[in-house]
Amino acid sequence: MLLAEGSANARNYELTVTHAVLVSLALIGLISAGYVAGVAVTTHRVDILSDSLAVQAEGIQALSTHIDTVEARYLRIAELFGARANALSDLWLPPVGRDGNSGRSVADETRPTSWPLTERGFVTQALIEGVVGEHPGLDIAIPTGSYIRAAGGGLVLEAGEDPLYGRFVRLDHGDGYGSLYAHASATFVETGDLVRQNEVIALSGSTGRSTAPHLHFEILRNNEPVDPLTILDQP
Ligand SMILES: [Zn+2]
Repeated sequence: MLLAEGSANARNYELTVTHAVLVSLALIGLISAGYVAGVAVTTHRVDILSDSLAVQAEGIQALSTHIDTVEARYLRIAELFGARANALSDLWLPPVGRDGNSGRSVADETRPTSWPLTERGFVTQALIEGVVGEHPGLDIAIPTGSYIRAAGGGLVLEAGEDPLYGRFVRLDHGDGYGSLYAHASATFVETGDLVRQNEVIALSGSTGRSTAPHLHFEILRNNEPVDPLTILDQP
């Protein structure tokens, strides 16, 4: 009885031990499975992150290609408008003919027939005659810093500043002809200087009453505006 009971107890004890071991193993198994699952989730997240980085890299590549395209288009437009494609380079040419006025005289006076810029630019406003909406010359859109050159040889009647014209140069070419260059960012000549035809006399800008960089150019005959497009050799 005691033995049987003891045996039964021993069996029960063994069962209990076995049960405990099984439960422990199961727990370890569950924990391991959980760990593995956790690693799997983490790995999955890394995959997603890496995918998203790849997508971002593609986006950046696409953006960079887009910027290249826009840049190329800008250069094309700048060329069409006659602007320097290398406007941002540090190319600098000293103005021609500033080595004194020796040997030059009124004999250097020539009719203003040269285009007043070294580039074509883009004519945004022609001459308008009459009192209403009068515009006594051409507006030529051109980037700031472009070379303004004398349309003809002659005398610098005035180089100065004006609220309307900004920095300007007025030339007398003789035979009743004059020319005016306005909205310059800088001028290289002074009142009383003699200039040759095509000499760089100023840099274009947007000074005075101007909303965008351009050259306002006038040709005058006996102080009356003449349409420059009827006189100038056009590029
Ligand atoms: Zn104008």
